[in-house]
Amino acid sequence: MISVDRISKRYGSGENSVVALDDVSLSVSPGEIYGVVGQSGAGKSTLIRTINSLERPDSGTVTVDGQNISQLQGARLRAARHNIGMIFQHFNLLSSRTVQANVELSLEITGVERSTRRARVAEILELVGLQGKADAYPAQLSGGQKQRVGIARALASNPSVLLSDEATSALDPETTRQILDLIRNLSKELGLTVLLITHEMDVVKRVCDSAAVMSQGRILEQGTVESLLTTEKSLLGQALFPLGEIPDTGNRVIEITFNGVTADRPVIARLARTHGIDVGILGAAVETIHGHQTGRTRLELPGTADATGRAIADLRSQGLFVEVIK
Ligand code: ADP
Repeated sequence: MISVDRISKRYGSGENSVVALDDVSLSVSPGEIYGVVGQSGAGKSTLIRTINSLERPDSGTVTVDGQNISQLQGARLRAARHNIGMIFQHFNLLSSRTVQANVELSLEITGVERSTRRARVAEILELVGLQGKADAYPAQLSGGQKQRVGIARALASNPSVLLSDEATSALDPETTRQILDLIRNLSKELGLTVLLITHEMDVVKRVCDSAAVMSQGRILEQGTVESLLTTEKSLLGQALFPLGEIPDTGNRVIEITFNGVTADRPVIARLARTHGIDVGILGAAVETIHGHQTGRTRLELPGTADATGRAIADLRSQGLFVEVIK
């Protein structure tokens, strides 16, 4: 598990200094996939480098599997880092080495003997779907295959934690889906704890159990994806269901979030019938989140405050998440 407790990091000093991390805390449970999203410059890379101990925080602590990474030095730090695998946007493979040689690099460094290395590489290549590719060079592989090599290399030393730095940002949408599914399956199979940083909401939709939204070095919101979808004014909720500008019609505007349980109920027809309201649909989006159909519908409710208030109370009494937008 990963526990980040109140870390801050500033680059430079004086007037030109930049606060890259400002009192950031988060916790990733064992086996969980946790996504950190945010625009460029939000502090995501600094966060991941701090967890990997490539960077030391100015204050606060990072604990990985019970070890305070921010305080370790020398051999103990190197040992702790073997428990953390990392994958990158541009794969970072050595072009002069074969797939086999790339994957066994970390094992070589830790002095694992040749026959054990060979066996481990064969096993891990099969796990990532690259059997038969051991002797290929990176230039002979597609982007998706290169990232599979990156994942195999990251997992060769059996880490319990995988960090992903925009690992799918250089891939096309279909390959992105395949790589994300692979990460999810590996996480399940190996009990891997995964922290990934991304600027793509599709990544959060497809694999993340929990997510945090970062901006200017701070975490603005965090929680399980499901809970964030049913949190008032959630930035993640809005980003996952972009419904566009809200037209100014003078009427009450609400958004209803549907999940697997409520998705097939005739909610809108019933609302119009029961409350005599001429409901207008202003926008709708449906997404598969965590394998479940989830949707958000923006409705316009003409009528008196009393009538629309009763309608909203009725919707909420049916267990629907209703946000009053206007
Ligand atoms: P993100 O990964 O979300 O794009 P970063 O963590 O790379 O964000 O950057 C956060 C802020 O810290 C940015 O303003 C960036 O310019 C600054 N920064 C990051 N690394 C360094 C560094 N090594 N030296 C100086 N400033 C840095």
